[in-house]
Amino acid sequence: MLISEIKKFTKGIFLDNELMSKHTSYGIGGKVLAYIRPFDRYELIKIIKLIHRNNSEHYFVGSGSNLLVNDKKINAYIITPAKALKSFGIENNVIIAESGVMLGKIVKESIKHNLTGLESLVGVPGTLGGALMMNAGAWGAEISNYLVSVEIISSSGKIKTLYPEDIDFKYRYSSFKSNEFILSAKFKLNTASKDEIKNKKLIASKGRISSQPLKFRSAGSVFKNPHSKLAAGLLIDEAGLKGTRHGDAEISEHHANFFINHGNAKAADIASLIRLSRKIIYQKFGIMLELEIKTIGFNKSELFPYDA
Ligand SMILES: Cc1cc2nc3c(=O)[nH]c(=O)nc-3n(C[C@H](O)[C@H](O)[C@H](O)COP(=O)(O)OP(=O)(O)OC[C@H]3O[C@@H](n4cnc5c(N)ncnc54)[C@H](O)[C@@H]3O)c2cc1C
Repeated sequence: MLISEIKKFTKGIFLDNELMSKHTSYGIGGKVLAYIRPFDRYELIKIIKLIHRNNSEHYFVGSGSNLLVNDKKINAYIITPAKALKSFGIENNVIIAESGVMLGKIVKESIKHNLTGLESLVGVPGTLGGALMMNAGAWGAEISNYLVSVEIISSSGKIKTLYPEDIDFKYRYSSFKSNEFILSAKFKLNTASKDEIKNKKLIASKGRISSQPLKFRSAGSVFKNPHSKLAAGLLIDEAGLKGTRHGDAEISEHHANFFINHGNAKAADIASLIRLSRKIIYQKFGIMLELEIKTIGFNKSELFPYDA
């Protein structure tokens, strides 16, 4: 059996029947078959090969800061580089990091070395792998802007190097396939004065603190903005949905595109707020909002209103 086979060799973490609520910023998520944190890239390759050979359902996740996981039992394996694949190096203006490194560390180190480009991403939670998959961005900067190359592991367990021209990056979108594990990446930044970098960082962190409900658990923006001049949060606000509460989940009064967990919210509570927002926005403005957050374990009907 796959579980016992992996357990035989892994020096990493292997948690059977693990609750995903322990691994998401929402604090929501049911049990999965196992949550696996490989010891190193060699173990990771072995695990990926085994999982594919067995045709087992699986998801690669980072630190779960952009994830809504259903509460029901999910018959899948979760594989994460978080807290494991953490090698990091910075030389001149080049950064090389494995996908388990937290984006916050990369931002901090780049600032320390007087490198500009990533300082506006200060405060974006999550790992490098998640940031690349989501093309994380804030205050005009996107992680893909400074990418030189990415190493991925294919489903056959081969490490391949991809270059920016191989990957389509758009607003909160990348064309990495769901069976490609993002292993590491290389970035090239520019140098700038300490003051210039500090100013950009300050603008971003002040903006974040004033506009986001950071005291509560969330997964950041739930929906993508329909286009650069039309914010999803504005539509939700104009539809009068701010403050709407289902169970312990609420459409934040502070930022309408953040759905917050007051403590005991269920996946179904967040899902029903998603359906409601989509339905009302569609009725009022003719726009079907697209999710920014990624989901695990839901049917389409749980996330879309029936009559849209
Ligand atoms: C308070 C708050 C504020 C936020 N602000 C911002 C913001 O300003 N800008 C922004 O862009 N985002 C923001 N986010 C969302 C989130 O932080 C980012 O999307 C982040 O980059 C996700 O990283 P993660 O490691 O948590 O990824 P996860 O949530 O674990 O995963 C996200 C996606 O990436 C995939 N993935 C993760 N790691 C890998 C890997 N190694 N290989 C292959 N696929 C992988 C997962 O399958 C999933 O599809 C915010 C979230 C919160 C909670």
